[in-house]
Amino acid sequence: MPPVETSVFELFRIGPGPSSSHTIGPMRAAARFLAELERLDASQRNEAVQVKIHLYGSLSATGQGHGTVEAVLAGLLGHEPETAPPDILEQLRTHPAQHRLALGDRELPLSAGDVIFDTLDHPFPWPNTLRFLLYGPGGVLLEREYYSIGGGFLLEKGEEAAAKRPRLPYPYQNMAECKTQLTTHGLRLHRLMLENEKALTGASENEIYDRLEHLLDCMEQAVDRGLQTSGVLPGPLGLQRKAPALHHRLQSVVYEQEKILLALNAYALAAAEENAAGHTIVTAPTAGASGIVPAVVYLLSHSLGLGRRALCQGLLAAATVGFLAKHNASIAGAEVGCQGEVGVASAMAAALVSYAKGHRFRVTENAAETALEHHLGLTCDPVGGYVQIPCIERNAMGAIKAYNGFLIATAVAPTLYKVDLDKVIQAMAATGRDLLPKYRETAAGGLALCLGNC
Ligand code: SF4
Repeated sequence: MPPVETSVFELFRIGPGPSSSHTIGPMRAAARFLAELERLDASQRNEAVQVKIHLYGSLSATGQGHGTVEAVLAGLLGHEPETAPPDILEQLRTHPAQHRLALGDRELPLSAGDVIFDTLDHPFPWPNTLRFLLYGPGGVLLEREYYSIGGGFLLEKGEEAAAKRPRLPYPYQNMAECKTQLTTHGLRLHRLMLENEKALTGASENEIYDRLEHLLDCMEQAVDRGLQTSGVLPGPLGLQRKAPALHHRLQSVVYEQEKILLALNAYALAAAEENAAGHTIVTAPTAGASGIVPAVVYLLSHSLGLGRRALCQGLLAAATVGFLAKHNASIAGAEVGCQGEVGVASAMAAALVSYAKGHRFRVTENAAETALEHHLGLTCDPVGGYVQIPCIERNAMGAIKAYNGFLIATAVAPTLYKVDLDKVIQAMAATGRDLLPKYRETAAGGLALCLGNC
């Protein structure tokens, strides 16, 4: 197996919720297809009459509730996830229209009806597959197949073999190898991450810190927007936002020991509710779980007064955990259930708290391990296919478990820990393989089944 070769900024992506694999991935796929269309020569463009997009797997099963149609339209209309208006999906949903897809000096008609919910079962190698087809009068002129593989990551058919990345100064496949690199070279974890990131992206250290601070700003903006927005979330569930009410209670809380719980709940719900509204969030590692890392960032920054540099280094520690989960298991609910989304986010947040507070590597690893261990087996069962029930409250629970993971990890000498992070990631992968498809983002089992008619 090759070493981890992911950039921090591929794991933490800015874009519209409510599901990175259903919105950010498809939007990036559509933008990539648009770039292909722009490369067509004039005679091919003149022949083109229409575009059709087929969604497969859980994109087909829950794409309606997850905003996949609007994400695909936004990408084909020239929007990128990072720079699109925060409410772009909402605009497209609430003002359905006949759009015009620019094709050189021509335009093709484009509407939601051109996005087709195809089969749940399919022969493609990844669960969430999109096929883009450009038709002329005589048949297909151009066809592309993309896989949305979780966390906004995207692959194109045949791309796996072609993806060649620069050699990293400190390669590792798992936590054990990462630990060996740290001890052999006398490095702290954030230094190893910075050196690898520099080699991978060519960015300078200052540029990396600037981008990390931008991520922190975007996370805090999502929390701030959510704390200030009340009302009902979009979709048929009629779910009331809760973050502003909890935040209000925080101002007048009597019992001091409730404060941290109320704060984490309010902050996690705020960002998760913004995600459910389809607004801009940061995947951490996914959109569905995008309330957990921002909740601890907001707590550490606003309640505990930690500085920007400590938080950036905490984000790098969180990214290490996300990388390892993605590399050795999965961070996609469609592959391993919610343990890969909320469970991994909780582990990342636990690592962030530990590292940002100045703890060394072993405590950071143990905190992440503890948080993930107690999410093993968590299924993905979004009611009606909407990233609302149980997803939003699950973010609040994940944030609490993250902080608790940190507290437990500091209770005994780090070397007394019996389970290491590699083992729990292996367990997550094995458990995910055993989960029936109805528990993997198809909205066909668990709460989605029991509350299906609400
Ligand atoms: S249940 Fe978990 S994995 Fe599934 S959509 Fe909700 S947050 Fe994502």
